[in-house]
Formats: sequence, C-alpha cells, structure tokens
Amino acid sequence: MQLHGQCHCGNIAYTLDWAPDPTEIPARACDCSFCTRHGAVWTSNPDGHLRIQLRDPAAVSHYAFGTSTANFHVCSRCGVVPLVTCAVDDGLYAVVNVNTLDNVDPALLRHRSASFSEEDVSSKLARRQANWIARVSFAERLD
Ligand SMILES: [Zn+2]
Repeated sequence: MQLHGQCHCGNIAYTLDWAPDPTEIPARACDCSFCTRHGAVWTSNPDGHLRIQLRDPAAVSHYAFGTSTANFHVCSRCGVVPLVTCAVDDGLYAVVNVNTLDNVDPALLRHRSASFSEEDVSSKLARRQANWIARVSFAERLD
C-alpha cells in the first residue's frame, strides 16, 4: 500500500510504498530528549520506497544533535517533524513519524518504546542501515 503523510501545513509531504500490504506497522516511541519533546513516533520498512515532496525547500530546517548522524527535517512554517534521514556510506536512509500519516488505520500500529541512547555511532549506523527505509528520493512539488 501507499502510505501518505505530511507536516501540518503540507510543506513537507511524502509517500511511502509498503509492499506487500502491511499487517502491522511498527511504531517506535524514541525516548531521546528531542523525540520526547515532539511526541515523535517512528516507523520504517527497509524494503519500502520513500518519496519526499517539498513545496518550499527553503522552509525546511535541519536539526541534528548528539552524534549528529540523524538529520531531522523540521518544517519551518508549522514546526512538525515528519521525517529523519541518515547518510550511511553512499546510501540515504529514513524513518517517518507515524503521527504525520494521513491514511493509516491506527489498529495497524504496533506501539513500543525504544531507547537508543546507549548505542555508539557504529551501532547506530548499522541499525539504521538494516532497519530504516533504504530507498529515499526528494522532489520539489510544483502545485
Ligand atoms: Zn509544515
């Protein structure tokens, strides 16, 4: 299925191809100080394809902290954080915030808490490479 999501104002929108259709969607409530403050809950499918559409790329701010390996895409207009990317080797990996999904049956979501603060950098990158969405593309939206 295609999952659709966006920030509150629609500046950052995305489509995530998830095949076969999910019988459940992991929803990880990260306990780091940034995700806690935003109430962000993340999902990914390593076999999925994420297409990100930006209406105004200049109105997206990028935030990183700690190891500075995760790039949080924050809408400068509405303050919502729909996605995070991470570059590993030559690839770009991503997770999306389930709270920004438009068309998902909440019954599909399997919520659990997640804590990654004890990981070192190489463990973080290896985990993201294995678990995060491995196909990520950006496009400017013309509408
Ligand atoms: Zn926005």
